[in-house]
Amino acid sequence: MKDKYGWNFDNSYVNLPPIFYKKMDANPVSDPKVVIFNKPLADSLQLDSDLLQKADGAEILSGSRFPEHAEPLAQAYAGHQFAHFNMLGDGRAVLMGEQVTEEKRMDIQLKGSGRTPFSRGGDGRAAIGPMLREYIISEAMHALQIPTTRSLAVTLTGDNIQRERVLPGAVLTRVASSHLRVGTFQYAAAFGNKDDLQALASYAIDRHYPSVKNSSNPNLSFLEEVIKRQAELVANWQLVGFIHGVMNTDNMAISGETIDYGPCAFMDEYDPSTVFSSIDREGRYAYGNQPYMAAWNLARFAESLLPILDDHEEKALELAQEAISGFSAAFEMKWLEGMRKKLGLFHDEKEDANLIKELLEIMHKHHADFTNTFLALTFHLHAENLLFNEEDFMNWHEKWQKRLSRQTNSKEEVQELMKKHNPAVIPRNHLVEEALKAAEESGKYEVMNELLQVLSQPYSHSRAIQQKYRNAPAATDQPYVTYCGT
Ligand code: AMP
Ligand code: MG
Repeated sequence: MKDKYGWNFDNSYVNLPPIFYKKMDANPVSDPKVVIFNKPLADSLQLDSDLLQKADGAEILSGSRFPEHAEPLAQAYAGHQFAHFNMLGDGRAVLMGEQVTEEKRMDIQLKGSGRTPFSRGGDGRAAIGPMLREYIISEAMHALQIPTTRSLAVTLTGDNIQRERVLPGAVLTRVASSHLRVGTFQYAAAFGNKDDLQALASYAIDRHYPSVKNSSNPNLSFLEEVIKRQAELVANWQLVGFIHGVMNTDNMAISGETIDYGPCAFMDEYDPSTVFSSIDREGRYAYGNQPYMAAWNLARFAESLLPILDDHEEKALELAQEAISGFSAAFEMKWLEGMRKKLGLFHDEKEDANLIKELLEIMHKHHADFTNTFLALTFHLHAENLLFNEEDFMNWHEKWQKRLSRQTNSKEEVQELMKKHNPAVIPRNHLVEEALKAAEESGKYEVMNELLQVLSQPYSHSRAIQQKYRNAPAATDQPYVTYCGT
């Protein structure tokens, strides 16, 4: 049933009990125009890039008109926002359908496409800046090989929206392996019955964890697998200095993908207390807190699953607690594994964790840039990096060299390993801002396109153009602040 654009929708979500969604009609906009389009992603979804960027393609990508076989819907979910439980749901997004190819089934969601039954007081719309921001950072995360939702397009609607000032409205086409969230399970537990909850769990298992179906307690194995994937995901974030910014339970995907890029940003100087988001006044979601917050969210997930973990309440609680207690070991293991690679270590030694922690403390003390310190270690950039003049760092460096000499791998092998795990470029806040400014204020997308190009190969370490994007920002008195962009 493929149409001329290549859409081949199958909407399995509508087979869930009706409490999980509301069907949606199109929400016309004035003058839709695609301004950024991801051709490689479109190719992998077997979509027609040319047609989709033309006028009637833009109508679809703005939510003005839906393709024939789409069964668009807004998803219901709840969530703990900064520890407070709320009923939420897609207030400004529609799931247009699941694009099915021989290899995969991907949700195609339009974010910013207008009001839904879950909009509460909001206008259902999004401003161009935050949608472009999500596009840049999610695509950078993908290139960094971190599981993430992706961005297919940003489409201007031609309508202005009112925020602190009037801004151009836009719609982001988001591609995800699904939009099931911890908050979807919280919704089922709070507002559905046991059958609804089981239907949701079975759906998630079918879609993301089919291997647990054969286990003796599939729901428990499902919980354990989600915990493992989240531990791995957050370890990956820590390894590149990514700060999500709003790790509310509605922003944690069951698939293990990074989702909902709001006030997220990458850390420059290494400091575990780094926070960028204007609304995170207490630093709940600071860099160093992310693993604890993930565990907290997963505890809420486990609580939601209690009725279907075991018929006996006490036994269910015991199983849930045991599963949750596995998070920190799983996280530590993944983190250590990744850190070893960042330092060119091929095998495990007991003292490795201390060696790594010592380096991080020295970086913290001397305000060293996270990304560039690991790059300097990879490429022996002694002259370029001030840290190499510090006595405590020099002592550490000697220890590290000794540690390297205890493995049989050659210097070249060590460097190759480090190159694969230390990105040459990350989406630095000042660069992202520059690209957004050119696009928002002058409608110029060249800066953004060049940035996207550079960010698409962070581990290539070869292109001269990377040099321009590598510098940490000049020191300022003003801390960088990000906003939710609602
Ligand atoms: P977020 O901070 O993006 O995770 O969004 C939290 C909740 O607010 C979700 O239920 C969103 O759908 C909803 N929301 C955010 N912005 C808007 C908006 N402009 N109109 C309606 N709902 C919104
Ligand atoms: Mg959200």
